[in-house]
Amino acid sequence: MSTVAYKCPNCASSLTFNGEKMACGACGSQFDLAAVEAMYAAQTSGGIDFDTPDEGYAASDVAQMKAYRCKSCGAELITEGTTTATECPYCGSPTILPDRIEGGIRPELVVPFAISKEEAQKMFEDYFQGKKLLPNIFKKDNQIAEIRKLYVPYWLFDCDADATIVYSAEKRRTQRTDEWEIETIEHYIVNRSGTMSFENIPVDGSVKLDNKISESLEPYDLTKAVPFSPSVLSGSLADHADVDAAGCEKRAVERVEKSITNAIRSTVTGYTSVSERSKGFSSKGGKVTPVLLPVWLITTVKDGKTYTFAINGQTGKLTCDVPTDKGKAFLWGAGAFAGVMGIGALILHLIKKMGSGTMLLVGLLGLIAAFGVIATLIGQLKQASSQTSASGYSREGGLQLSLEQDLYLYTKINRKKIEKQEQAS
Ligand SMILES: [Zn+2]
Ligand SMILES: [Zn+2]
Repeated sequence: MSTVAYKCPNCASSLTFNGEKMACGACGSQFDLAAVEAMYAAQTSGGIDFDTPDEGYAASDVAQMKAYRCKSCGAELITEGTTTATECPYCGSPTILPDRIEGGIRPELVVPFAISKEEAQKMFEDYFQGKKLLPNIFKKDNQIAEIRKLYVPYWLFDCDADATIVYSAEKRRTQRTDEWEIETIEHYIVNRSGTMSFENIPVDGSVKLDNKISESLEPYDLTKAVPFSPSVLSGSLADHADVDAAGCEKRAVERVEKSITNAIRSTVTGYTSVSERSKGFSSKGGKVTPVLLPVWLITTVKDGKTYTFAINGQTGKLTCDVPTDKGKAFLWGAGAFAGVMGIGALILHLIKKMGSGTMLLVGLLGLIAAFGVIATLIGQLKQASSQTSASGYSREGGLQLSLEQDLYLYTKINRKKIEKQEQAS
C-alpha cells in the first residue's frame, strides 16, 4: 500500500515514511508507523450471519396435527389432532376455521408450561397491588376478559461473533501556573479485536405478538425443553411462525453487535475521552433453532380499551402495556424534590452554610431523588420494553480479546493566558 493514503491525524495532510517515522511535511508532526497503520487497519468484515433451518413437517407429523386460521385476525394456528380449538388465542374470535398444514418449519424443541392457568390468574390479580403509578381505572374491577394458553414460535440464534473496533482516545490534563493555563492532550489509537459466543438469543416469529412484549418475557430456560412432537401440543394451540428465520435475523444481529461492541468498549480504560473510528464484524457457526415457547396471554378491557398482559409460561415473569399515570408520577417526583430541599435547607441552616451555591447543590440532589423515585415506581409497572443487548446469552467467559493495542500518536499542547483583572480589582 502506498503511504500517500495515510493522512496526518493532526492536520490531515499526506504522510510519508522517512525511514523511521511517519512524517507530516505540512505541520512537522511525526508518528509511529504502527500507530498510523492501526488507524487504517483492515476491518473484520463479512458481518454476522446464520444458517437458517429448512426442515418442514414430516408426513407423520401432519397426520397427527390440525391447523386453524382465524377469520377475524388472520392468525394461523396448529395443534395436536385430537385438540379442538374454539376461539382464537390472539383476538378471541370464535370464527376459527380448519386449515391445511402447508409449508412451515418444524420446531425442534418445545419448552413446556410450568405455570398453571390458576397461577397465571393469581399473578394477574396480584399485579394490581401496591403499584403507586397505576392509573385509577385499574383500582378495581380488574376482570380477565380472556386468558389464553399459547405456544409462541421463536427462532433461537447461536453464533461465535468476531469484532474489530478502532478508537481514537485522548488523555487530557490541565496545569496552571501564575500566568498560564496549559492543557496537554495526548492522542492515542486504540485497537481491539475479540470474540464472543452467543447461544439461544430468542426472536419471536409471530407478527401478532408485539416484539416489546416477547422480549420482556425473556429469558427462558432451554435446558428444560423437550423435542417437538405433535402430542406435546395436546390441549393447547401453537402459533404458526409467520416471520421466517431470515426475517428475524436482523434483530438478532443488532443485539449481537450491540453486546460485543459494549463488551469491547469496556476494555478501553484510562482515557478522558474515547470515540469509535471504525468497526467490523464477522461470525462463525451461526445457526438458528426453531422452538415453541409457552406464554399466557391475558386481556382486560377498561373504558372500551383492551390492555394485554403476557406471562412467561415457564418462569411466571409478567409484562404488560399498562400506561404510567403521569399526574401521579409528577406528584411523587415533586414530593421527593420538596423533601430533599426541605431537609437540605434545614441542615445547611444548622451548620450555617446556607447560600446560593450550597442551595443549588441541594436542588440538584432533589432532582436526582425525584427522577430516582419516578424510575423506581415506573419499574413496578413491568411495562413491556425492547431489549437492546444479548449479553445475557453470551457463553461462559464472555468476551475473549485477541488483540489489545494502545498506541501513542502525538501530543497537542494548548496554552491560555490567565486574565489577571479579577485580582487587580
Ligand atoms: Zn500534519
Ligand atoms: Zn384471531
